[in-house]
Amino acid sequence: MDILSKYMVPHTKELGIDSEIINQILDLSVEMVERTNLMEKAKDFDREGPKLVDGWARLPKGNEDVYKAFGDAGLFGIFVPEEHGGHGLPYTIFTGFTEIVSRACASTGLGIAVHGSVIDIFLSFGNDEQKRKYLPDLATGKKIGSVCFSEPHAGSDLAGIKTQARYEDGYFILNGQKQWITNGGFSDIYVVLCKTDPDKGKKGFSQLIVEKGMEGFSVGRLEKKYGLEASPTAVLNFDEVRVPEENLLGVRGEGLKQTIIGLSGGERIGVAAWATGIAWTAYQEALEYSKERKAFGKSIREFPIIQRKLQKMERQLDMARYLYVKAAKIKDLGGPFTLEASICKLFATEAAVEITYQNQQIHGGNGISREYSAERHVRDVRTGTIGGGTSEIQQLIITRYIKDHQLKYKGVNGSYELWEDPRSKHTFEIPLGLIDWEFWGIKK
Ligand SMILES: Cc1cc2nc3c(=O)[nH]c(=O)nc-3n(C[C@H](O)[C@H](O)[C@H](O)COP(=O)(O)OP(=O)(O)OC[C@H]3O[C@@H](n4cnc5c(N)ncnc54)[C@H](O)[C@@H]3O)c2cc1C
Repeated sequence: MDILSKYMVPHTKELGIDSEIINQILDLSVEMVERTNLMEKAKDFDREGPKLVDGWARLPKGNEDVYKAFGDAGLFGIFVPEEHGGHGLPYTIFTGFTEIVSRACASTGLGIAVHGSVIDIFLSFGNDEQKRKYLPDLATGKKIGSVCFSEPHAGSDLAGIKTQARYEDGYFILNGQKQWITNGGFSDIYVVLCKTDPDKGKKGFSQLIVEKGMEGFSVGRLEKKYGLEASPTAVLNFDEVRVPEENLLGVRGEGLKQTIIGLSGGERIGVAAWATGIAWTAYQEALEYSKERKAFGKSIREFPIIQRKLQKMERQLDMARYLYVKAAKIKDLGGPFTLEASICKLFATEAAVEITYQNQQIHGGNGISREYSAERHVRDVRTGTIGGGTSEIQQLIITRYIKDHQLKYKGVNGSYELWEDPRSKHTFEIPLGLIDWEFWGIKK
């Protein structure tokens, strides 16, 4: 049974799902990762990287087959309602699938996490017709999705984007450029944030569904990156792209709000699951290597300082999993989950950076060698504290929330500080040391 079962099954009662089903999906995820040899192939995918072919991105040789195998096994449809071709299970289980894939290949795991956020956005904001049109193909992986908000001059500051669409005779005419788009050029469906009513400030943004093949939509380039080298990260150009008005996602003028909701939901919890997956593999490698490697006549694992590192890694992993599964469960229950999403994203990604670094350290010189995957994990995980909202932005969100909702500090329980919302009586758990309260001007 996969270790995730321990974290997910206790929540099954609240989600109304039989624990057997959770275990079946987790086992299927593990089985598909093994059957596709994803862990062994990840190294080659990293070296080969994606390419532009006829202007569109192709994944490294064999990587598209992995997507197809996962799609055929129904894993992309975990939380898509049955009426739209999925299994109608909680999103929480999809995060488990994301973690399991990311343990084997961070690039593929990120692609899947982002694809999941596109599904989540359609479920949250798509109308019936859009759900009918797009969800069945997203659920089977016949079509892959991308979320496009970042631009060359604006990432954290979403309202600073320049991409615009003017409305003309039933079409939004889209112009602009997006950068850093995961699955960019490989995806078929793109949710694009743009300004449709620039004179209306924050109420002037909308999300449009852009499809591969629409005239004027092209890939500018694929980024050469530090890590995640198998994941296509693209600059996308929109030059007078005629997007039919039925491709407006959600409400005109609400695009910024919808993007922020999408970010805290699918994206941040998904990234936390992704980072946990990479960190889990790094921890397993550290355990194995420290047992095998001898120095001064003994296994290096026998040195107290190495043991201390391993114990900390295990504790961090336990907390990262606990926090993202809990955030996903709150999302599934329909509760407000913004704070929990930011807490799990901040903790899991920062912890994963540290865990992969310590694995590399435990590997000594071999940690620097391309023969071992320790160095790849360090590179791959680095995007975690940047993409989907940086660690600094997560700290801002958390501390603003505490101030705005006047949360009350209730003391410490184990590794967590407890903060209570006086109105809802909901208690938030924040890992000890995650936030420098004094710096952020918060008195306990
Ligand atoms: C591999 C990869 C994949 C990505 N995938 C996608 C994707 O699929 N779709 C998409 O739209 N984007 C994607 N991104 C972009 C990502 O979301 C942005 O890089 C991120 O939001 C940060 O924006 P930025 O790069 O413009 O940095 P900036 O916003 O310029 O930030 C620079 C620095 O300033 C800090 N900073 C900014 N504002 C504040 C503030 N108010 N207070 C304190 N510090 C602040 C930041 O924390 C950061 O340290 C991806 C990025 C990478 C690297």
